[in-house]
Amino acid sequence: MDTKVGVYICKGCDIGKSLDVEKLTEEITKDAAVCKSCDVLCTEEGVGVICDDIEKEGLNRVVVAACSGRVFPELFTFGKDILTDRVSLREYVVWTHEPNDEDTQVMAEDYIKMGIARVKSTEPPEPHIEETSKDILVVGGGMSGMTAAKAAADAGYKVHLVEKEPELGGWARKFSKTFPKQPPYDKLADSGLGELVTAVKNNENIIIHTETTIEKTSGQPGKFEVCLQNGSRETLNIGSIILASGWKPYEPDKLTKWGYGLLPDVVTNIQVEEMVQNGGIKRPSDGKPIESIVFLQCAGSRDEEHLPYCSAVCCRVSLKQVRYVREQYPDARIYVVYKDVRSPQQFESFYAAMQDDDGVFFTKGELAEVTKGSNGKLQIDVTETLLGEDIKIEADMVVLATGMVPTTKVDDEVATDNDNPETTEDSQTAVEDETTADGKKEAESAERGAHILNLTYRQGTDLPTLKYGFPDSHFICFPYETRRTGIYATGAVRAPMDISTAMHDAYGAAMKAIQAVEAVARGVAVHPRSGDASFPDFFLQRCTQCKRCTEECPFGTLDEDDKGTPLPNPFRCRRCGVCMGACPERIVSFKDYNVHMVSEMIKCISMPDEFEEKPRILAFVCENDAMPAVEMAALKRMKYNAMIRIIPLRCLGSLNTVWISDALASGFDGVILIGCKKGDDYQCHFIRGSELAAYRMDNVQEKLKQLVLEEERIEVHELAISDFEKIPKLFDDFLEVIDTVGPNPYKDM
Ligand code: SF4
Ligand code: SF4
Repeated sequence: MDTKVGVYICKGCDIGKSLDVEKLTEEITKDAAVCKSCDVLCTEEGVGVICDDIEKEGLNRVVVAACSGRVFPELFTFGKDILTDRVSLREYVVWTHEPNDEDTQVMAEDYIKMGIARVKSTEPPEPHIEETSKDILVVGGGMSGMTAAKAAADAGYKVHLVEKEPELGGWARKFSKTFPKQPPYDKLADSGLGELVTAVKNNENIIIHTETTIEKTSGQPGKFEVCLQNGSRETLNIGSIILASGWKPYEPDKLTKWGYGLLPDVVTNIQVEEMVQNGGIKRPSDGKPIESIVFLQCAGSRDEEHLPYCSAVCCRVSLKQVRYVREQYPDARIYVVYKDVRSPQQFESFYAAMQDDDGVFFTKGELAEVTKGSNGKLQIDVTETLLGEDIKIEADMVVLATGMVPTTKVDDEVATDNDNPETTEDSQTAVEDETTADGKKEAESAERGAHILNLTYRQGTDLPTLKYGFPDSHFICFPYETRRTGIYATGAVRAPMDISTAMHDAYGAAMKAIQAVEAVARGVAVHPRSGDASFPDFFLQRCTQCKRCTEECPFGTLDEDDKGTPLPNPFRCRRCGVCMGACPERIVSFKDYNVHMVSEMIKCISMPDEFEEKPRILAFVCENDAMPAVEMAALKRMKYNAMIRIIPLRCLGSLNTVWISDALASGFDGVILIGCKKGDDYQCHFIRGSELAAYRMDNVQEKLKQLVLEEERIEVHELAISDFEKIPKLFDDFLEVIDTVGPNPYKDM
């Protein structure tokens, strides 16, 4: 399509005071059909000028050279056929560089030319529209699953609720009471299970499938085909899925140090709940009443050899069970041995109420040993107590406060136990598949997990998980998201939580599931690029079946045929561009984001010759955290070096290494990559983008060797949004390195 570009330069917000806008307009006029400046572009008058020109001049591309694209996005949107680029003269140039300086002026010119190159080499995206289902599947009929089902059904969506047990209710059916719900937060409460089950059963939008498991889930959001197994087979067409499969207790057989499995009077908190439901708490070895009892907190939790994390709930469970004991045995001596008591928010009052009981003794301490004394009672040796002394407690019974493990986690033992029905040949294959023939680890391409949804995805049969087995995908920015688009986790499968938190959590997941079906119906992305209508196009005639895209897509979007040709599932895609960065043939592109576009942007950056002694540094900056950090630095008017030219990327993982080699071959002195922090404790917005970019730099170093260029010319950095103060130094330090290695010898070639 022929492009006709109009460029509009704003003079407001210090731009007019810092740049020679007239000279800039004169220069840019050579590259655009129209180039105008305006005193303040974000006014009716300013926008009116653009709209008039679109009408009269037949513009189909607009470059707004003013403030960041994060400011007034709607104001500078001119319809789906007009592609608009925002050039941040304010943030990239005038707020961060010396006013009325030659280098600042050149920089402004470069950025506007890059904006023109960008709109000239791209097309407006078109949404991918297909007929889709808006029905929602909820997997797990516990409190969070039922709450999510009801929330979605009340919003008018048809919901299928699948539960593997004959009854709805999950763990809540096993718990007689739950934590206090009303001030003064000292009385145990009813979980509300009965009312919720009735409400779910009476809701005509909810179809309940009990004693049902999922044999297979294929397809993509809006078009999931879910095969249910409940004696007979039934296939559902589903728009989005909420996984509320809950938790399981940490395996107590591993707690022999605590005496579990060796001493019958050592039980878990779950066993105490069972006792309360079955006639009351009694000493297991002989059924006698309890005179004294010890609750050992963090039994295996916050322990690198067992569960390294805190389950956040077990302290309150013990407080609740202390109350059970007190109600049944008014004179019993009760001991609670803890690392810390974590009873947050209003539950502090609950803790205080338990402390008021003179018969309850709380002490910090580390368990040394649990043994059986000659009198038949248990001896509990505790060290490092608050009193500074070791203590010995004699008790009838010990209760271990075991932690919560998500049902998506497969224990190592289970994973190798061929007799276990949860372990199939597939999961074994998946583990083996992690290493390819050439020895390269296929970064999590084959996920190992519990078989709950039984996905037919190329990358594995269930939800990829974080290091502790939770299936979250970005716990800071996108709670509920899993790494499979259109599938949302809620309740204790997402993070350890109590019943009432899980019920609140369920509303969030229901909202996400609804957003997913609605976005898919409009053919646009759900998150994090919410509303993005673009989609990667694969020019498969030139595909070499190298499988990089299918392996590296963080969201399992691409399946593949027998030969390894990618088979896209558009609605699974989050538009990160990782596949575009991965493809060595450069055949993956988006209409509005592609390899050619960035190459064209690089080409129009001015390149001072070596005698000017002005280096040029290209900065690829991730739009998610790093770019907002750059903008925060601008808001604070922090100055950085004017030799830097920034190109924002959807994700560092979308960086195709050809851009780096081309840039260096054409004279850039250095290239700096700035992306999100990686790892479970922070998480790149597209999971593995920054990790993949760092990994791909190995290939770039090879290329540098071929060009006989120093490896110091490339640096990769991670930046959190809060790290904006580091930006000037980051650039200065890199420029110092470049100063040491000297100018790029390819500069004038
Ligand atoms: S854009 Fe991202 S999510 Fe979509 S197919 Fe490519 S790598 Fe996968
Ligand atoms: S990365 Fe490119 S060449 Fe390789 S399989 Fe994917 S599309 Fe084909």
